[in-house]
Formats: sequence, structure tokens, C-alpha cells
Amino acid sequence: MNQISVIDESGAGSVIPTNILPQFKVYTQKDFDRIPQLKAVPSEALFEMKVVSSILPFRVNQYVIENLIDWSSVPDDPLYQLTFPQRDMLPPQLYQQMATLLEQKAPRDQIQALASKLRTQLNPQPSGQLEMNVPLDRNGKRLNGLQHKYRETVLFFPTQGQTCHSYCTFCFRWAQFVGDEDLRMASTDTVELHNYLEDQPDVTDLLVTGGDPMVMKTRHLAALLKPLTEPKFAHIRTIRIGTKALTFWPQRFVSDIDSQELLDLLSQLVDAGKHVAIMAHFNHWREMDTPVSRQAIELLRQTGVEIRSQGPVLGHINDSPDVWAKMWSMQVKAGIIPYYMFVERDTGARQYFEIPLAKAWSVYRDAVKQLSGLGRTARGPVMSASPGKVEVQGVTEIRGEKVFALRFLQSRNPDWSYRPFFAQYCEKATWLNQLKPAFGEKEFFFEREYNEMQHARQSH
Ligand SMILES: *Cc1c(COP(=O)(O)O)cnc(C)c1O
Ligand code: SF4
Repeated sequence: MNQISVIDESGAGSVIPTNILPQFKVYTQKDFDRIPQLKAVPSEALFEMKVVSSILPFRVNQYVIENLIDWSSVPDDPLYQLTFPQRDMLPPQLYQQMATLLEQKAPRDQIQALASKLRTQLNPQPSGQLEMNVPLDRNGKRLNGLQHKYRETVLFFPTQGQTCHSYCTFCFRWAQFVGDEDLRMASTDTVELHNYLEDQPDVTDLLVTGGDPMVMKTRHLAALLKPLTEPKFAHIRTIRIGTKALTFWPQRFVSDIDSQELLDLLSQLVDAGKHVAIMAHFNHWREMDTPVSRQAIELLRQTGVEIRSQGPVLGHINDSPDVWAKMWSMQVKAGIIPYYMFVERDTGARQYFEIPLAKAWSVYRDAVKQLSGLGRTARGPVMSASPGKVEVQGVTEIRGEKVFALRFLQSRNPDWSYRPFFAQYCEKATWLNQLKPAFGEKEFFFEREYNEMQHARQSH
């Protein structure tokens, strides 16, 4: 193949010769001064970005800079907020400490020491990820890089997939990207994964995640996934791959050196009878509004995979029903199935992006109201909390008490799921741990059992 065709919105095709195929070019913390578009940004804002990115990860590629960000509406542009650090993403005392060191032009090791210290104050591992979900193998050895929290689904974090084509400023996995070894979850061993899956007949779903596994070379993905077509893995019916490449580097599916092999691999898995789901992370309809993104979606769908979409609702980026309604309707049109609307997790730059649960619910409701049933398949807003995934079903009044109606969509004990429970309404609450049981009850129905589970793990 020496040329690729790109379909524009009207459906008309145009052809790009391969000698001008886009090359992946990325900017990180050291490169702010080399991004031409930032020349127009005031120097204080540039300094603020350097301060914030000394603590939180920063990485953005040229495709995002040139095709997604609307530089005429910076700093409010949602795609700019998605990728470029802002001062208020850090709590003021943390910001100030780092700003002081940078103003003094302190030596590198001093800056790094402070950065590591400050990161620990940003709840780097939310929802008990490290302690509670790592499974043990036949011999009782901890399998790092695996999480097995819900009966049916195993998460795998391949080592080569522990980065992304760009970083989201709100990333809940940010701690994995900043180099603190003990915050990492990556695995080294596909063989260990395969052995574990072989031993787990109840597991039906493998979810490959990161970072972004689509940063991996196709041959690494093939080594991981092809063996799952063997009969001994017949119980693994679904392979999900979490990715933001449709936003950050759709060229991965269109024009990278091993794009065709990747599409072929996905087709082979589908042909072998697996349900393959691309769990595409989207935050704004504009991410889908480029010719190469449309092309990537089209090529992926031709392989027989399903594309499902998920992403958090965030202040500064998408806390508007119209943005979600437009995004979900574009997705339905493109053959993508809306799956989850998440609540921003309690980590990293959370205080900048979080919105009250009550508001998240009204964004959700006012978005789905605008759509037909096919646009209403996303569940949400959902908090992925330590006991399970809790959906805010709505705000209502029961015998004169204003309450949140909640339920688990997934839970550590499968029996907790889909049982309605109620919390006192609170206008400001942004997360499960800020909610109190309604009707004067002392604790939520699952709390005692959940606490016992925590103690059991800790005494291991
Ligand atoms: C969301 C999630 C899953 C998958 O849950 P589904 O309801 O099947 O989408 C699996 N493991 C973890 C840790 C999760 O957070
Ligand atoms: S794509 Fe996902 S893992 Fe990567 S930076 Fe964004 S939120 Fe984090």
C-alpha cells in the first residue's frame, strides 16, 4: 500500500501519498519552549505550566496541537484543558512550594525530591488499586500488572502499554506516568497472564488497559492476544482494549507502519469467535470531528470489532448536556455504542475537574433526553469506587426526605449489584465517601461486609 485514502465529512475521499504520511511527534515537560503555538501564551502561564508539569505528567503530540486544539479560544478551549496543565490543577500550597523551587532555579534532584513528596499528597492510588485487587497465582505469588476485582473480568496492564499518545490532564492513572517505581502496576509477563486466565474458569472478559495499549507495537499485542484463540482459553469470550488513540493518534489504525497488521490481528480474533470491544475514551465530540478519526473508526468497524465509548464528566471540558448529547449522537451515527459516563476519580488534579454528583446527574439526564433510545445506552454517572461501580440513578424525595437513588453496576460481592440504595441528598458531594445513608440509617447495606474484605486482604 503506497497511499491511504481519507474520508471527509461529506463522505468524499481524498488520497494522501505515503511520502507525506504523518509522523508521530511528541512534546513533554522539557519542550514547552519548542511548541510554536505557545508563543502567543503569556509568560506567566508558561511558567505555571512548568510548575504543574513538574508534579503531574505532561505529554502532547503534534496531531493534538494542530488538529484538535482551537488556539483562538485558549485557555478555555476544552481540548487545551484536556492536555495542557493549568495552575489550579494543583492545590495552592503544593503549587506554591514547587513554584518557589523553580523560581530559585533549584537543582534537578531537589525538584524531583519535592515532586515525589507532593505527589503522595494527591492520592496517587485511588480506590485501593494496589492493595486490594492484585491476584495471586497457584503458588501464592502476587501477579503485578493484573487486577481481578470483579468475578468476570481481569484487567491486564502490559508493560509496553504504560504510556499514552498524549496525556489527559485529569488522568486517574497519572501516578504510573511520572516514574515513581512503587506507584506502577505494569506487568512484565504475558505468560503469567495466560497461566492465570487458564486457571480462572469464571473469567469471561479480559480487559487490556494502561496507559494505552494501542501505543504498543502490533507484534507485542499479537503475542498477548493471539494465544487466547487456543481452545484452553475458550472461556475468555470477550477481549476489551481500552484506548484513547481514536482521539490522540487515530493514525494508529490508519497509517502507522504496522496499522494493517493491527487491523488484521483484530479481524483474526473476531474470526476466531471472540467478541472484541475497543473501549474508546472520549471526552468531547470535537475529538471525533477530524477526517483521520472518522477513517480510523470506519477501518476498525470493518474488522468486526465493536467500539464502545466511555469517559468522565469534567468541569472545564464537558460539563454540559449539549456536549454529551452531540457526542453520543455522533457516536451512534458512526456505529459506536455509548457505554459509561464516569465521575472524575479522587486523585491528581481532581479538585480542578470535579463537579457535584447532583450536577453530573443533571448533565447526564439533560443529555439523554435529547436522544433516541440508541443514544441512551451509556450508564452514568458512575463512580468507580473501591467497593464497586456505583451509579447515580437520580435525585428524588421519599417521605419528605430528599435523597440520591444509587445502585452498584459492579461490586466486589456480585450480590450487591443492582440493588437500589439511598443516600442523603447533598448539593456539594462529589464522591461516594462524602455521602451518608438516608432515612437515619447508620451505614450503607454493603459497608460491614466491605470492611471485612479490606481487613482480610490486609492480613495477607
Ligand atoms: C469497570 C471495571 C470492569 C468492567 O466492568 P463492566 O461492568 O463489565 O464494564 C472490570 N474491572 C474493573 C476494575 C473495573 O473498574
Ligand atoms: S488516555 Fe487514559 S490513561 Fe492515558 S492519560 Fe488519558 S486518562 Fe490517562
